Amino acid sequence: MRDIAGLKAALAGLVLSDDPALLRQKSRDFYWYSPILKQRLDGLAAELWVQPREEAEVLRILTEARARRIPVTVRGGATGNYGQCVPLEGGVLLDMTAMARPLALEDGVLTAQAGARLIDLDLWARERGWELRLWPSTKRSATIGGFVAGGGAGVGGIAHGTLRERGNLLGARVATMQDPPAILELAGEAAAPINRAYGTTGVITALRLPLAPAQAWRDVAVAFPAYGAALRFAAALALSDGIAKKMCATFQPALVPFFRGIADAVPQGQALVLAMIAPSGLLPLAELAREYGGALVAEQETLAAERDPDATPFYEYCWNHTTLQVLKRDRGVTYLQMRFPFEETVAAVEAACALFPDEVWMHTECVRFGGRFTMTALPVIRWRGPERLAEIMAGFEAIGIAIANPHVFTIEEGSGYRRVPGDQLGFKRMTDPLGLLNPGKMRDFDRG
Ligand SMILES: Cc1cc2nc3c(=O)[nH]c(=O)nc-3n(C[C@H](O)[C@H](O)[C@H](O)COP(=O)(O)OP(=O)(O)OC[C@H]3O[C@@H](n4cnc5c(N)ncnc54)[C@H](O)[C@@H]3O)c2cc1C
Repeated sequence: MRDIAGLKAALAGLVLSDDPALLRQKSRDFYWYSPILKQRLDGLAAELWVQPREEAEVLRILTEARARRIPVTVRGGATGNYGQCVPLEGGVLLDMTAMARPLALEDGVLTAQAGARLIDLDLWARERGWELRLWPSTKRSATIGGFVAGGGAGVGGIAHGTLRERGNLLGARVATMQDPPAILELAGEAAAPINRAYGTTGVITALRLPLAPAQAWRDVAVAFPAYGAALRFAAALALSDGIAKKMCATFQPALVPFFRGIADAVPQGQALVLAMIAPSGLLPLAELAREYGGALVAEQETLAAERDPDATPFYEYCWNHTTLQVLKRDRGVTYLQMRFPFEETVAAVEAACALFPDEVWMHTECVRFGGRFTMTALPVIRWRGPERLAEIMAGFEAIGIAIANPHVFTIEEGSGYRRVPGDQLGFKRMTDPLGLLNPGKMRDFDRG
């Protein structure tokens, strides 16, 4: 029997709650995209929600929880997709969103508290001439700590790769579950063990990230009579080094009607490319589109759209927002995460499209990995049960496409090509020997 009442008393003066309705609400993320995870994770909840305001409060919470052997699961914006912040074994839900201050910006390097929302940090940096290199399509609700601990690819990937690229994460302050809990200052590669570790290796309290010079990005939509032309255009755009861009995604025609804000602008039955382009790139982009038989059908200022709660920046049709746009109107679908080969990328996407044409609606994102261009995909999949999903994954893998399975909740099973190099397991043994941080999410950790 866990001493939650004792913990609550020991944390007097902190912002906390044990209200069951609040605990249920705060213990969820977007795992319900996966019918498999929905069945497995529905109903799980923490026993105490605590919202620290400063690093010292984080340490106090960890110290008191450790003394009582009570697990602690960290929560940012709770926009993760694999039940990453769902506490499998109850305990404390440590909500970081009150630690949300930017701390410094010097020589293009941002230091910020981990609970800051990405949109707030980006706006703050922009006022100083800089912008985030990378953000997830959940920029308007996700936190920087959650992005580093749980995500890592997204808008900006076409120019800067993923958060795993050397140089995209410069350092972190991390609170541990050692005896006694302590703060570690990690710089450079030493910070890798907290990267996409789902909060199992420590509580990130602050992060250091390099920025990019700010641009007044334009959202552009280009329609194509056939998906093949859209793919070839996207690949050509990705490799057009003279056109500054932040994003480029392709969509098969079946997905377009689900994009409420722009569907009417796209001729019926046409494929779509959505991109974010610097103003200087608009003319060459229009010329490139013409070469591939495409027509520019919509354009808006990205930053104006993201500041308007009633508007949709085009990146909210991209990355894993594509699945969400479809799920809003059709709950009979789910999705996958795939990476195509670096060579003959477009041919590989077309081969994938030919495999399951009635069940898979293709959506790709242009990205760089290790300096090389390829496309990743988050296709929407008609849900016909776990066996059929496994067949579809095996079919893709058989033609050389890498899969990162989003229907599992452990780091090891789900990361696939997104796995962070380095010894996260060894680091966890040092920072959390009792296995109290988000237990069950690092499969290979043995609590003995
Ligand atoms: C519609 C939609 C679109 C998405 N698009 C993208 C995308 O483009 N790219 C992408 O990478 N992801 C994407 N995601 C997944 C998710 O939105 C991102 O990974 C996001 O950055 C998570 O941030 P969060 O604050 O919501 O984290 P949470 O969901 O709260 O947490 C994520 C994980 O990080 C841990 N964590 C959170 N904060 C800390 C901390 N301070 N210290 C230690 N651990 C912590 C949590 O325990 C959990 O394991 C998408 C999800 C949805 C629903």
